[in-house]
Order: sequence, then C-alpha cells, then structure tokens
Amino acid sequence: MKIAIVGGGAAGMATAYLLNKHHDVRVFEQQPILGGNIRTLNKNVTGTALDTELVLDCGVIEFQRDNFPYFHRLMSALNVPMEEGRTSSELFMANGQYFKSGAGIMHNCKNSRERLKELWKVLPVMGGYIKFLLKTRKITAEELYDKPMSVYLNQDIHSRWLKMLLMYAYSMPYNSITNFPAEIGIPVLRQSDIFTQWDRIIGGVYSYIEKILEQFSGQLYCSARINNIRRQPTNAAAVAINMQGGETLYFDKVIFAVTPEQVLRLLADASEDEQRRFGAWEKNAIETVVHTDVSFYKHFGVSYYSEFDVFQNNASDNCGYNAYLNRLYGIDAQRYQHFSLAYNLGQRIDPSKIVHVQQHQSPFYSVAAVRYRHEIITTNGANHTYHAGAYLGNGLHEGAIASAYAVAALLDNRP
Ligand SMILES: Cc1cc2nc3c(=O)[nH]c(=O)nc-3n(C[C@H](O)[C@H](O)[C@H](O)COP(=O)(O)OP(=O)(O)OC[C@H]3O[C@@H](n4cnc5c(N)ncnc54)[C@H](O)[C@@H]3O)c2cc1C
Repeated sequence: MKIAIVGGGAAGMATAYLLNKHHDVRVFEQQPILGGNIRTLNKNVTGTALDTELVLDCGVIEFQRDNFPYFHRLMSALNVPMEEGRTSSELFMANGQYFKSGAGIMHNCKNSRERLKELWKVLPVMGGYIKFLLKTRKITAEELYDKPMSVYLNQDIHSRWLKMLLMYAYSMPYNSITNFPAEIGIPVLRQSDIFTQWDRIIGGVYSYIEKILEQFSGQLYCSARINNIRRQPTNAAAVAINMQGGETLYFDKVIFAVTPEQVLRLLADASEDEQRRFGAWEKNAIETVVHTDVSFYKHFGVSYYSEFDVFQNNASDNCGYNAYLNRLYGIDAQRYQHFSLAYNLGQRIDPSKIVHVQQHQSPFYSVAAVRYRHEIITTNGANHTYHAGAYLGNGLHEGAIASAYAVAALLDNRP
C-alpha cells in the first residue's frame, strides 16, 4: 500500500519504521528537521553555541525502565544503547524554602547529619504523598475518565509538588494542571516514585531516529507545506494530499502523527465525528533553554543540584523547572561547564549564559481535549485515516511508540 505519514516526530518515525518493510511509505514533516520533541544538540539541532564534542538533549530526555514496554521493544529492535540515569528532584519555593525528594536525600546530601535534617523537613510532605497513593490506589480508569487533577490534588505542599511534576513531565503551564486530565496524570504520578528507574539513550535521543533512517527505504519530505488533505473513498486513490505549491499526491492510507490540534486544520473534509474528537485540542507552544547558569541555586544555599528541580517563581504560582544535564549525561563540570535545561525560569537565568533556546509544539492537555480519545483509538482506520501520537497514550514517549505499534498492527492486520 502507498501510505502517507504526516508528522516526523517519535510516533510518525516509529510508524514509518514499522510499515517500511511491506509498504511504500512517505513521511511529511513541516519542520526542516525530523524528531518533533526529540531535539538533540549536535545531532538534529546544529549550529548552536555548544562545544561540538558534546551531545545534549533539549527536549525528550528520559524513559521509564519498567512502564515503557513498547518504547523498550523498539529500542531493542533497533539496537539502541541505553543507560540508567539517576534521577532525583527537589522543590524550591518562592519564599526560599526547599525540599529534597527521597532520592535527593539518599544521593545529594553531604553527610548523615544533613540527610537526617532534610528527611525531617520533608516527612510531612511524604506523608501527604502516601495519603495520595492510598487515596488513588484502587481507582479504575473508568473512574478517572473526564475528571480534572483538581479532584485529587489541592493546595497542600505535596499536591503542589505533584502538580509541578506534571508541569515538568508535560511542559504544561503550572496553573493549567488543575484541569489536567486525571486519566493521564494519576497513573503517571503513581508510576514515578522513589523506586522508579529511568533510562536515557547514550549518544542522545535522536540517535534512535538515525537508526530508523539507516533502514528506511521510503521518502521523506521535510519542510513539507500541506495545504489540506481529502479522503475520496469513491476514487481509486483514497487519500489526496494537496501541497501548498499546487501539487496533489495520492495515497491508499493517511496516518496523522501530528499534534492533535493540527488534524482539523489539515482535514478539508472532516466529518462531524472528527470535529467532535479533535475540536477541543489546543496548541501548547513552549520554549526550553539550555544554559550554564547555576547561580540561582545560591539563593537557597544549595550547592548540589538534582537531575530535575522544580521552582515556584513567585507567590502567584508561576512555576518552572531546571534539569541538571551534567549529572544526567556524565559531563565533567571542571572540563566543560554546568549545563542545564530549563523551562519557564524566566529571569533567574543570566541571558549571557544561554547556550540555546528551543521551540516546541506540544498538545495542551485538558479534560475537554481528551474526552474523545477512546473514540479516536477505536475508529482508527475508518475512511482510510489513522492517528498516532503520544496524546493517544500516556502523553509521554511510551504513548507515542505504543500508538505507532497499534497503527502498524491495524494496517498489517496483526492482532
Ligand atoms: C520539552 C519536552 C520534553 C519532553 N520530554 C520527555 C521525556 O523526557 N520523556 C518522555 O517520555 N516524554 C517526553 N515528552 C513528551 C513528548 O511529547 C513525547 O515523548 C514524544 O516525543 C511526542 O511524540 P509525538 O510524535 O507524539 O509528537 P511530536 O514530537 O510533537 O511530533 C509531531 C510532529 O508532527 C509535526 N507536524 C505538526 N504539524 C504538522 C503539519 N501540519 N504538517 C507536517 N508535520 C506536522 C511536528 O513538527 C512534529 O515533528 C516531552 C515533551 C516536551 C514538549
């Protein structure tokens, strides 16, 4: 079959890899480079101020060892080298207070005295987290459907910390987390505890896309400008892709692997059902910053940075995060510098210490947006049209890759 995949991010490229053997596959990516939220400096992102011998990710970084089965299946099929990354997280409040997570207390304290002091400080917060785990222990997916996170989290310090973790995981504005869909948020929070193991890809996340490209025999159209897409079920060719230059390309099937708010923009003949399923999705345009400024930690009297720290920037709950890349990537700060990846830290970062600013497009997760996800998944294939993307699963990389396997199985008629 002749198959068009629109979107060259994780979901699109994994689907392209899985369908490549048996089909004529074309990938249409609107950006000049592939990868979507996979942005690896000195790989698919070049020409930055970063030392050329370093490879750093400024988008997707890490993957759970035990709860990402489809992702790990793909990585082993592609022979991608992975290593365990230690992860701890600390919470920095606008009033100067800070709390270390369990892993932070284990690994990021100078001595047992400090360990004991930090443990004592964080105990009430841990108590709140245990209550949250107990409260959500028996909740079924059906009960979480159509509920916002505000049903399960409030203004307590542990709730704030968990909301900040969702802000970090989904690069969503902190204030929107109250309306974040619980059906995605609760399972992810429950799976991200002190015992969770995280892996990263040696050589940067984009290296797995490179491995896909080594085997890919279809065609890639980067900087693709699609005007619109029509399904013509009565014609011999079922799908017509009209390019902005006036050219029309015909396919048997089309797979949308774009951010969901793009689907209705692209479909010239969206049905009422499709309008309902995709109508509430909005765009989440964000920026991440790679920088070498760690001076803002001094304000808290801290000299040992966690892999993932969350910050309350001011009392009105403007929040952001800082991921300390040296520890994640084993970079020697004496030889190079202290590298971090930040989101929404605003004026904390000295502009002269910014190495690279990266734009990202991501789905804006809300209760209304995910309401019809189940319909999208169960009608995949109707009218020659399929959908893949992280937003159809857990919103993380596992969701993207799992959706690719699901679409490939439908097209290849596999269970
Ligand atoms: C900053 C950031 C960090 C993240 N870090 C992690 C992490 O560490 N671990 C994790 O598991 N998850 C992480 N995520 C979640 C992430 O969204 C997924 O892991 C995954 O990469 C998403 O893949 P996707 O293919 O669904 O979407 P995307 O990566 O968004 O891919 C969609 C693609 O479609 C293209 N496109 C859009 N519109 C059009 C159009 N009209 N025509 C053609 N092409 C189009 C886009 O340019 C893009 O390349 C992160 C997300 C962000 C934003």
